[in-house]
Amino acid sequence: MKPERSHDVIIIGAGPAGLALATALARAGLKSRVVEQQPLAAIQNPKPDSREIALTHRARCILETLGHWQRVPAGEVSPLREARVSSGSSPFVLPFVPPFDATARGHEALGWLVPNVHLRAAAYAAAAAEPLVTWDTGRSVIGLQRDGQGATVLLADGGRVTAPIAVAADSRFSAVRRMAGIGAQMLDFGRIAIVARFEHSDDHRGVAHECFRYGNTLATLPLPGNLSSAVVTLKADEAPEWLALDDAAFGARVQAQLAGRLGSVRMTGQLHHYPLVAVYAHRFSSHRFALVGDAAVGMHPVTAHGYNFGLYGVEVLARELSRNFGDAALQAYAAEHRRVTRPIYEGTNAIVRLFTDDRLPAKLLRGALLRVARGLPPVREMVTRQLVGGAQTSSHSLRM
Ligand SMILES: Cc1cc2nc3c(=O)[nH]c(=O)nc-3n(C[C@H](O)[C@H](O)[C@H](O)COP(=O)(O)OP(=O)(O)OC[C@H]3O[C@@H](n4cnc5c(N)ncnc54)[C@H](O)[C@@H]3O)c2cc1C
Repeated sequence: MKPERSHDVIIIGAGPAGLALATALARAGLKSRVVEQQPLAAIQNPKPDSREIALTHRARCILETLGHWQRVPAGEVSPLREARVSSGSSPFVLPFVPPFDATARGHEALGWLVPNVHLRAAAYAAAAAEPLVTWDTGRSVIGLQRDGQGATVLLADGGRVTAPIAVAADSRFSAVRRMAGIGAQMLDFGRIAIVARFEHSDDHRGVAHECFRYGNTLATLPLPGNLSSAVVTLKADEAPEWLALDDAAFGARVQAQLAGRLGSVRMTGQLHHYPLVAVYAHRFSSHRFALVGDAAVGMHPVTAHGYNFGLYGVEVLARELSRNFGDAALQAYAAEHRRVTRPIYEGTNAIVRLFTDDRLPAKLLRGALLRVARGLPPVREMVTRQLVGGAQTSSHSLRM
């Protein structure tokens, strides 16, 4: 009789993508070992990071199937009813509203905003409830070896863990990706996103705004009640001056840039800031190895696809491994994930390049594009389809 193996998959990284994969594999009857460098307490009770994650219909469906959605406090979920895009001094505003078929399914929203801290806590709680998931927390991966028998990860404390397959979910700056000999296309925008919550006197009516101003961009995302999240992106060398502002001065600057929209503004949350670097791995799989989450595709946040893509990848990888455990499943996952993510990755980077270019020809093109897109409903329909999660909105491949 063959000895029972202790795990089928090693998952490196207990961020939201790694944790979602652990649950999805468990639902497919596969055992995983999650190796995370942070201590258990840090993933059980994650600290707020000011990120408000916009989720598509397809992502919500996956989160419901994994039992994450039900674990997020209901009062923390905000429907995104409309998104409006504007550029500099152009009078044209490009609106996006939910497509008819989404409304017909009872979802009168383009998507939903959920604080990252709640998504992370829910992802841990769901994985921790699965008997097929076991843990190595507070242990850092420093090496990866693969041979005909399996994959072994080497830990900083001298330990090692072996399984037939290893999956890295260790962030966009993934060290394990490099250990597997996989390179990545990295696009450093030289910009920083500063994120914080604020309270305002006027109703946001569930509308998000993306204003590509000249100098910096300002996005506002509707949260429960009269709260919104401000996402200011600007050149990295201009960030220290913004970060040195006290709450009143920061709020006054946001209010001035909103030009009366949302009324008076008062900052309510801590500021967090993130470097804007987009990453696309050259490959998503190799022998006995795969990449998921930001380690595979690290998106610029402007089109709000990062974690959505992470969830799509988890869904496909778990489905393929449950059907045909081995390298062929990893390759099938890699091909499908590339097909779904590559056009949006390239499109997002092109939008960011154009709409953060303040030279005159780019400014003129920015205004013209908004004007043209406004007059072309099929273009808006196509972009809206991406916002809600494309045609694939079912997570039937994950078991309840
Ligand atoms: C400002 C901002 C706004 C965003 N908005 C959106 C949005 O609206 N919609 C959306 O879909 N996405 C959004 N995102 C993207 C989203 O936050 C990420 O895609 C998601 O958090 C990535 O999760 P992950 O699990 O892949 O990686 P991470 O969260 O980076 O987790 C990686 C984990 O790996 C662990 N690790 C790293 N190295 C090792 C090692 N050597 N050994 C062991 N463990 C290791 C780390 O400790 C960490 O726990 C946004 C991002 C930012 C910055």
